[in-house]
Amino acid sequence: MVSEKANTIGESPTLKVTAKAKAMKAEGIDVIDLSVGEPDFPSPDNVKKAGVRAIEENFTKYTQNDGIPDLKEAIIARLKEDQGLIYDKNEIIVSTGAKSSLYHLIQALINDGDEVIIPSPYWVTYPHAVSLANGKGVIVSTKEENGFLMTPDELKSAITPATKALILNNPSNPTGAGYPRHALEALADVVMEEDIFVIADEIYEKLVYDDFRFYSFASLGEEIKKKTIVISGVSKSYSMTGWRIGYAAGPADIINGMAKIQSHSTSNPCSISQKASLEALRGPQYDVSKMVSEFQRRRNYVLMRLQSLPEVSCHKPQGAFYVFPNFSSVYKKEFNSMPIRNSYGLAYYLLKQAKVAVVPGDAFGADANIRLSYATSTENLEKGLDRIIEAVSQLKTAKKVKRIALNNTLTRIKKSVPVDSSISMSMRDALVAEMEDSLSYDNYFEWNANINGVIVQLRTNVSHLNDFWIENWYPAQLEADIEPHGIIYAVDGIPGRESRGFYNSETKTGILVNTDNYSPLRSLALGLVIDVSERLFNTYALRGMSVDVNGKGLVLVGPKGTKKSDLFYALLQDTEVRLHSNDILFVRLSGGKVLADSIERKLLMPTNTVEFNPSLASLFDNSKCENVITRKEDCQDADCLRLDDCRLDRGSPFCYKASKNSVSLLDPYWIEGPAKHTKRIQMQWIFILRYDTSSPPSAEMEGEDALRILESGQSPGLKTTLSPPRSQPFFNPHLLLATPERLEYQRNFFRQLLQLTTCYLFNSGVATVDHIKRLIKGDAPPENTR
Ligand code: PMP
Repeated sequence: MVSEKANTIGESPTLKVTAKAKAMKAEGIDVIDLSVGEPDFPSPDNVKKAGVRAIEENFTKYTQNDGIPDLKEAIIARLKEDQGLIYDKNEIIVSTGAKSSLYHLIQALINDGDEVIIPSPYWVTYPHAVSLANGKGVIVSTKEENGFLMTPDELKSAITPATKALILNNPSNPTGAGYPRHALEALADVVMEEDIFVIADEIYEKLVYDDFRFYSFASLGEEIKKKTIVISGVSKSYSMTGWRIGYAAGPADIINGMAKIQSHSTSNPCSISQKASLEALRGPQYDVSKMVSEFQRRRNYVLMRLQSLPEVSCHKPQGAFYVFPNFSSVYKKEFNSMPIRNSYGLAYYLLKQAKVAVVPGDAFGADANIRLSYATSTENLEKGLDRIIEAVSQLKTAKKVKRIALNNTLTRIKKSVPVDSSISMSMRDALVAEMEDSLSYDNYFEWNANINGVIVQLRTNVSHLNDFWIENWYPAQLEADIEPHGIIYAVDGIPGRESRGFYNSETKTGILVNTDNYSPLRSLALGLVIDVSERLFNTYALRGMSVDVNGKGLVLVGPKGTKKSDLFYALLQDTEVRLHSNDILFVRLSGGKVLADSIERKLLMPTNTVEFNPSLASLFDNSKCENVITRKEDCQDADCLRLDDCRLDRGSPFCYKASKNSVSLLDPYWIEGPAKHTKRIQMQWIFILRYDTSSPPSAEMEGEDALRILESGQSPGLKTTLSPPRSQPFFNPHLLLATPERLEYQRNFFRQLLQLTTCYLFNSGVATVDHIKRLIKGDAPPENTR
């Protein structure tokens, strides 16, 4: 297992979107990538040559850990020339990219619990870098109408005694906002007054437009310089992102601390890149100004195009190569009835519909916006903006706002629990006494259900279980002195007891301890009812999925892995087919006929059934649900996670597919209306399922052969991956009593049943639902049957 840190940290969303765009391009999809975080120009020629020279001169060994002295001198000279800043070599460190300088700085500066103020929108890395140092990021929202600049008041009100530093990114990724000198000075006053450090990320210092003049925070005065650590590098200014050189300038003790940490993480940055960076900083600066004027032209173009979207506002950036338009006015709109809910939803829509990759603003702490990068060709910008404008104009205002308030309960226990069905009378009495003791009168629910004519009383302290119980079953008659056939205690919160079930057949008492999940309760109730109805009514349970086809009943029986659900939902597509039961049938023989009843008022259905029948989703929306996933972290659908196409990311509040353990209690009459469901079938066919690729599609079976398979509870040839393999006589997990006597009763019953029905062994590994349809019409190809 990876550490908590690794588990909770999100991958850089910018890198993720860019990777996605690249993958789509590789598939031949014409994607325009406006998510890029690096200039699209080659590194300057003199820089490349310097790199080659370094290799030729064998400058390919470890260098000084904190950077070669020449490069430090070049950095010092540039800071002096550009900003009038004076630094010594021991106040400079060169790192593997500005990101690495920033990381080592935060590690060197921040103690556990120190607060670091991060104005939002922020560069995605800041909060993570702070929390990886066990610091606490304090996010301060800046306002679009203030040009995304933090005001002194906003800074002041975020400062507490625990505040150690402020991270100020100027010009900003993602907004492009640049701080004019007076705005910096106003912040510097607060910084001095409150005595905090400033981490001045000035990586975009050279990429500024119009008449904006960039000032380094450290340049505001000698005192403020002592509290400032400047972070910069060659990545953006010289189009050298891949060379990985950044640097920091600040007080010698802090730089020394960073150097110690760096010596144990990356050591020196790449020797060749250091030589290339030396050339970048010392050589002619002509390429920088060429790039700046091209970026400025593109920025103006993008702003001009965005103006054609009246409901979208966009701050005019002073620097960097991003615009950060506010699209929140389209969030209420929808495309093909799919509402855009937030910046992730919009980014997803633009990627899928318009084939344009952008970064959702939420990644930068500003959900109203999206980030577009203009570090791409004018041709791409034209195409990309054409597409965005077209896609946004296709969004329609939703006619009525559909509000889905999912009725969902998350339970502590997610699965079935073991049941001991052989407890003695004295143990039963002791357990009942313990349960009664634990049920307090102010948190006690009791309800009699009529399950196939058997009256089962639930006594519980879990309101959710009571809720599902009442929803699932028909009520027993409302007579005060009614005597239930059996009682189930479902008591949660008993200290020191594991989650498990008990059953005593003599007294028809079920006991469920420390379980808040409904499935084990339903299963125990069915087991109790099977026990009673076998003896009292000569009615037996058959585990399967059943339908009615023009008045004749068909049941699919088989363990997991035999595609039972696939076949069931495929059969239901047919207009002649009606739904009977999705899990359990109570069967009796009457006048030479086999009658099977579906005895549940509502069917407990795994919500991932939407994969077979997407229209069920809107029915689940209106049904009681349990354990439907609402957070991506809880998703168990590995295939879906791999596709990186998560509906929760796109703003959906929940996902029906994400867990095998999420269920809904669905009214069967809602599935295509009352005519599609029947409570009773006259059984004609039993299909016992197997799944392999070599056996024949189907074979009609003699009663004794079928009985053997049913009783074994094992599908022939099925290599089950379930561990440990569970032997379930008659494939029925709800059977509580598998004593020789009970099995003999069941055997006798099924022997008669199989004489009155036609039974096939059906291989869903090679045959489809059409084969079933041909078999029941009596026109299956003869070679397929015996
Ligand atoms: N700071 C900011 C604000 C950035 O946008 C980036 C790059 N996206 C960096 C630092 C990191 O730069 P480098 O590639 O030199 O690590």
